[in-house]
Amino acid sequence: MSESLIQTSLLPWQQTQFQRLQVLQSNNRLAHAWLLAGKPGIGKLAFAQHFARQLLCRKATSHGPCGTCQDCHLFAAGTHPDLQLLQPETRQLKIELIREAIAFAQNTSQRGGAKVIIINPAESMNINAANALLKILEEPPAQTFLLLVSEQPGLLLLTLRSRCQRLDFPSPPAAQALAWLQQQPDADTSAVFHLQLAQGAPLRALALMRAGTEQAFGALIQNLEALANGETTPVQAAKKCEETGIAACIDYQLLGVSGLLAVLQGGVELPVAALTPLLARCNQVAGTGMIRRLHDYYQSLVKARKTAMATNNANPLLMLEALFSEWSRVTAFNRARSS
Ligand SMILES: [Zn+2]
Repeated sequence: MSESLIQTSLLPWQQTQFQRLQVLQSNNRLAHAWLLAGKPGIGKLAFAQHFARQLLCRKATSHGPCGTCQDCHLFAAGTHPDLQLLQPETRQLKIELIREAIAFAQNTSQRGGAKVIIINPAESMNINAANALLKILEEPPAQTFLLLVSEQPGLLLLTLRSRCQRLDFPSPPAAQALAWLQQQPDADTSAVFHLQLAQGAPLRALALMRAGTEQAFGALIQNLEALANGETTPVQAAKKCEETGIAACIDYQLLGVSGLLAVLQGGVELPVAALTPLLARCNQVAGTGMIRRLHDYYQSLVKARKTAMATNNANPLLMLEALFSEWSRVTAFNRARSS
């Protein structure tokens, strides 16, 4: 019946990390605070939740939580009283939530076992929130475990980081990621494309696949072509891409440009067929500094992505216009030659 709801959610590429924590736990040597670090879209939060369930289940084994006890049922229903999952509604985690978490940590466990706090992402705490959290880390209450999930651990307070054990999550091997992605209920033939687009991050690839990204990617590449051909302006092109969102627009271009560079430099195959017309244009001017100019454009994209992620008030339309202007310049020589 509800059995399937509470099956383990450990991802196939997380066995090593799970075993490391599980062995420490079974020897009563598990540190009370962990920093789960790795790039976005590889399942760090899923891992944190799975391990929280492992800590709360009193019949857990080295294979994972039992899935049938009262604690497992409460967990599956999302109502376990000794678990707190803190996530920001917008970009910043409110200090009130951290204060609640501190009170939660100091209170006795309601079910008589462990208590677990998950913060995702840890970098969403502002300095006041992080300082407040230090209280728990400095005087950790018994049987209370803190799992901090982070894409950018470098942004965390050093005093916070130094009080956590770090658990790294590298990207899964490509074959394993693809096999997993192809097994998902909504998987289709675009799995390979989306895994490339997500730069090997399987959960991100799945989200992109479900969002039907392939079409939006194709539309963006058409825009880049039109700009290279002088058939549209940066302002018009940016307007067309507004709906797709700045982050996705930059990601698609990063994939597109890195794909073109790989082909031009290394003679490898194009990662996605939609890039064929752009490659043809680049090939028309091979040996005219196209590779260097593509490299420069790639760096601009990387910089723009950081800005788009880091600031609240970045104007996405203006950023896209600036990028597309640069793209027009990158391909301008090309246009002069061929027309
Ligand atoms: Zn259980």
